[in-house]
Formats: sequence, structure tokens, C-alpha cells
Amino acid sequence: MSGVGSPQALAAAMGADEIRGLIDAADVPSLLAALAHATGDRSLAPGDLWLDPDLALQPDGGWDTGQVQRARDLAADGLRRLAASQSAINGPDDDLVLPLIDWLTGADLDDGYRQMLTEELAVTRDLRTPEPIRGDAWPPQGSVDYPVAVIGAGMSGILTAHRLKQAGIDCIVLEKNGDVGGTWLENTYPGCRVDVFNHVYSYASEQRPDWPEYHSSQPVLLDYFRDCARRWGIGDRIRFDVTVESMTWHDDARHWVIRIDTPDGRDEITAAAAVSAVGQLNRPLVPDIAGIDTFAGTQFHSSAWRHDIAWDGLRVAVIGTGASALQFIPHLAEAAAHVTVFQRTPPWLVPRPVYHEPLAPGLLKLFEIVPGYAHWFRLRLFWCTHEGTVGALRRDPAWDGPLDEAVSPRNDEARRLLTLYLESQFGDRPELLAKVVPDYPVGAKRVVLDNGIWASTLKRPNVELVSDGIERIEPSGVRGTDGRLHRADVIVFGTGFRASEFLTPMRVAGRGGADLHDTWNGDARAYNGVCVAGFPNLFCVYGPNTNIVVNGSIIYFAECAAHYVVECLRLLAARGAAAMDCKPDAYDRYCERMDEHNAQMAWGISGVNSWYKSPSGRIAQNWPLPLIDYWRQTRRPEESDFEML
Ligand code: NAP
Repeated sequence: MSGVGSPQALAAAMGADEIRGLIDAADVPSLLAALAHATGDRSLAPGDLWLDPDLALQPDGGWDTGQVQRARDLAADGLRRLAASQSAINGPDDDLVLPLIDWLTGADLDDGYRQMLTEELAVTRDLRTPEPIRGDAWPPQGSVDYPVAVIGAGMSGILTAHRLKQAGIDCIVLEKNGDVGGTWLENTYPGCRVDVFNHVYSYASEQRPDWPEYHSSQPVLLDYFRDCARRWGIGDRIRFDVTVESMTWHDDARHWVIRIDTPDGRDEITAAAAVSAVGQLNRPLVPDIAGIDTFAGTQFHSSAWRHDIAWDGLRVAVIGTGASALQFIPHLAEAAAHVTVFQRTPPWLVPRPVYHEPLAPGLLKLFEIVPGYAHWFRLRLFWCTHEGTVGALRRDPAWDGPLDEAVSPRNDEARRLLTLYLESQFGDRPELLAKVVPDYPVGAKRVVLDNGIWASTLKRPNVELVSDGIERIEPSGVRGTDGRLHRADVIVFGTGFRASEFLTPMRVAGRGGADLHDTWNGDARAYNGVCVAGFPNLFCVYGPNTNIVVNGSIIYFAECAAHYVVECLRLLAARGAAAMDCKPDAYDRYCERMDEHNAQMAWGISGVNSWYKSPSGRIAQNWPLPLIDYWRQTRRPEESDFEML
């Protein structure tokens, strides 16, 4: 899974036609960077082919025709020379890698940014490997069952366990399911796939050069996370089928007492620190629709898919048109006799032609044979999507248009382009078009990727899109507010998750017995997205205000947070302290900063409902700043913001 190719295989593959074919399939800018790196010849990434940082991801780098030809010639030359030299890259040579990162991004990067991107490149070794925490000052010897208890073995939990292990800190991972994978284990609905490029939605240090598709399906993702856990050797640290009921901080002993429900009954363990890695999107939201219990047929939530149902001949009602529903409805429409789709708010669709596409064989071949190419390819994807279109979601004070439509000229332009896309998809069906064009700013809710499948599904004769409200559920179906009864044998709730209810249903008691959920009062907050004042040695990964919306990958955030957790423990060891608690003023300052920035974003300005908001309307989920800011603020704990205990 290293992604480092083999020049020997390359040598065997070379022939003029073959080289041309490979370059046709390549992302040429990242191929040139890989070849320059592998051969040590920087002239393969020359200054006159500098990339424009403002240009979105394009295989030809946005170059003019002459530059494209020159780039292709250089790539062919590089491939031949690499084959002849039989060389292999030795390691992350800063003198070579940093100028190549500058070249590939085309940006004027500072040292921090370069370091972050070098970590993301992770070519030949994992630069995020923490130094071991030295000494035996922490945790206090013999006083606890485990130094750290990690709750959850999904994407962020297994990563945290891995980083702790690398740092020499033992941990136990408590997982409610019978396997790792979290959301990728639980969501098995047909069509489930990652809607971020999976090269980027993967750990930088654990790249798969052979992802079968740009947006791989759930079984592929689940295999990936299983494989990572296996190769990291953390399997023996995970206790499966264990649900955490409560966690109580003991002020005198300065440790957590964790009550768990296990297959053998209830138990209690102690841990010096606790890491919540429970995710944001795993407690299904089944809406409280009148009459829901009277339904005579089968009903279930998308995250608990009923694979035992034979759909042939059935009438199905689907409630919800979010990211999950738009993935499974096309499959239901193929299988069932009739599907009624109840839409409350239409999503903005973002065209992604490769949404269901496999990677070209030539590209996969290049990953196999060019040392480091998969890494440089991933870095370019990361760079071109890491801020993505988030700038277009930020309010421009000079914008004087209606804020319920757009928050800036760029946001308005995005609205225009995405409206054009909807018109191109639904123009032949004006009655559908009228229903699917959103009336809120782009980015106020999660956008959904599309490759034309949504329009072709809604246009099917056996599919009806209902955009009037739901009056109630009755034994034989769903009655709309217009009085019509939509008969159904099955109701599928694609109604999302209780995202704002962080760390529920666990009961968490901190210093002096303070209850976490009372403290939050429905508005989850965390300093750096990780620490909560009054709850010493409790760390969240993918915690409040760390969700990203149209840019980057949540795995990047998990890496930053896991690094921060390790650095907090390192600080405890260095100070000989048992615990650390975020000071209330630092906590409040930080949360105010999040609120101020979120108030400038489309999702904070618009009144449209979304899972980004807590019941009070406050944005408790989203990260409103550039990705690099999170990297910078999670490098190491600011000691003055903590009380050592
Ligand atoms: P969601 O985006 O929250 O969508 C829920 C849908 O149910 C919305 O259309 C919502 O309407 C509707 N709904 C909720 N309550 C309703 C009610 N009482 N009556 C009528 N409609 C109701 O949930 P999701 O689709 O499961 O996606 C959640 C998030 O998971 C996504 O935003 C994404 O971040 C992630 N996700 C990722 C992937 C991927 O990467 N492959 C796939 C799926 C999901 P309103 O819009 O009016 O509230």
C-alpha cells in the first residue's frame, strides 16, 4: 500500500506507443513532479511550466498548447531516463521535495504550509510518526487500567490508537460494533460511496495506488480501514461489542472511570485520559412524523439497510433528499415497482463526471511503475481541493445582493453555474426543474455530487418527486399536505443523523461532577475542536467545529487532532502532571472565534435548516477557516491555555 512504484516494472513497460498511452492517461503536472523526484532532475519540472494556483484541477495544468506538448515531451523523456537508470527514490530529500511542492502548487508557501504538504505527500515514509513520549512520568504508574481509552474504532479512532502506539502510549479502544470502520461499517445501503476523492479521503501515510474508482464504494472503503488497523497492529487493543454508558472524572484520583456494557455484562475500567472518536454522523435521525407507528409495512433508516427485502413489485416511499438518499434512490428505482421521493429542501448538485468512474488503466499502471507517482498525484488532488470552493462560501462585505440567495459575488456566480447545470439536466421537464432548484445560497447545506444520475432517476416513469410537505404516515402509506395518499409497502428514511448531539448517549461527568450535556446545553463546543473546559484529559477527535463542507477531507482533521492529543500527553509527561484542563477563558475565546467566522459563512448566514446547526441555530459542526489554520493550531498545546492538575 506504499504507493511507491517499481522502475524495473517500468523498464519492462517502455515502448514509444506505450509511453504515449501512459501519458494520455496521466495527470501530467504530478507525473513531472514524481519523475523529477525519482530521477533527482529538477529540470523535469521547469519554471516555464509553472502552475497557476487559481486553476482548478486540470490534467494539463491549465497550460497553453505549446506548454502541454513540452510537458508531455518532458514526461516521456523522464520515463525513459527513469527506466534506463533503474533508480528508486531514497527518501524525503527537502532540497528536492520542497521546490517540487512549490512548483506543483504554484503558490508562495510559507514554511508551515510546506511542512503540512510534505506530511500529506508522505513519500517513502510517514512524516507524522510521533517521537516516543519519553520517561515514565505519565501516566502515573499503576494507578489506572489503561493510560488512554479511545472510544470508537472508526476512521479517527483507529488512527488515534495508531498514533498513540507510535508514541509509546498504550491504549484500549472501546467499539460498540463488532468490527472497525465506523460509518463505513454501518452504512451499507446500495450506492454508498465516498463523495470526496478517495485518494484524499485516505491516510496520507497509507496510500492505495490501486483505488478502483475515484469515489470508491463502501465495501472498498471498509476493506481499506480494516487493512490499516491490521497493518498498524492495533487489533489486540480493540474491544468490540462494548458500549460506553458513562464516563466520570474523579477529581482526587485524577482519572476517568468508564462504565461499559459488554457481551459479558456491565463493567468498569479506569483510564488516565479518554479520547472520544465517536464521529458526528452515526446516530440516525428518524423524524417524529405523526402516525409513524401506525405504518403497516416495513420502515427503516438508510444506515440500517434491510438487505433481506426483495424489492421487485414493491412500492417504496423515501423521505429525504440528502447525500445518502441521492446515492440509494437510483438503486431503489431500478429494483422497485414504484418510488415516491419526499423532498423537503432540494440539495445543490455539483457536477462530478467521474463520480462513478474507474481510474484509467494507464493511470493505475503509472502508479505501479513510477516511484512516488501515486503520492504526487494525491498531493495535487489534495492541493486543488483543499480549499476547494470554500472561498465562494464566505461573505463578501461588499456584496449588496439578497443574503438569502448568495453571500458574495463568487457565491452568486456558483449559484448561477449550478442553476445552469440543473437546467441542463432538467430543462426538458419544467415541472421537475421547478422543484429541484434550491432557494438558499450554495454551501448553506451540504452540496451533493452528481454525474447525471439524479435527473435520469427522477425522470423514470416509476419515480415521483413530491415536494409538498408530509401530513402524516398512515397504515398504507404517506399522506401529503395536499391530502394525497402515497401508497407504500416500505418507507426508507434518508433523513440523516443527530449530528449536533455530540457524545450522546454517553453520560459524561467532569470536574465536580458537572454533566457535559448540561454544560453544552445543546450547543457542543470544544477548544481546538478537542478539549472542553472542566473535563480534564478528555479529548475529542472529529469534535465540535471540525467538520469541513466543500473542501479537503475529514481524515486530514483527524490527523491534526490525533497529533494534538499526542502532544498534550507529551506536555503532561514533560511537566509531570497527571491531567490538563482547558481554562474557561481560553475555551470561551476560542468558541467565540469559531462563531464569528461561522457567522461569515453561507451556512451561518442562511436560515435554511441543516445538520450543521444545533437546535439553537448555532453552527456547532463546521470549521470556517482555511485547512492550514487547523494544522497550525494543533501543532502543540499552548500551555498557558491549560491548568495542569
Ligand atoms: P442529510 O444530509 O441530513 O439529509 C437528510 C434529508 O432528510 C434531508 O433532505 C432532510 O430535509 C430530510 N429530512 C429530515 N427530516 C425530515 C422530515 N421530518 N421531513 C422531511 N424530510 C426530512 O443526511 P444524509 O443524506 O444521511 O447525509 C448526512 C451527511 O453524511 C452528508 O451531508 C455527508 O456529509 C455525509 N454523507 C457522506 C456520504 C459520502 O461521502 N459518501 C454519503 C452520504 C452521506 P432538509 O434538507 O429539509 O432538512
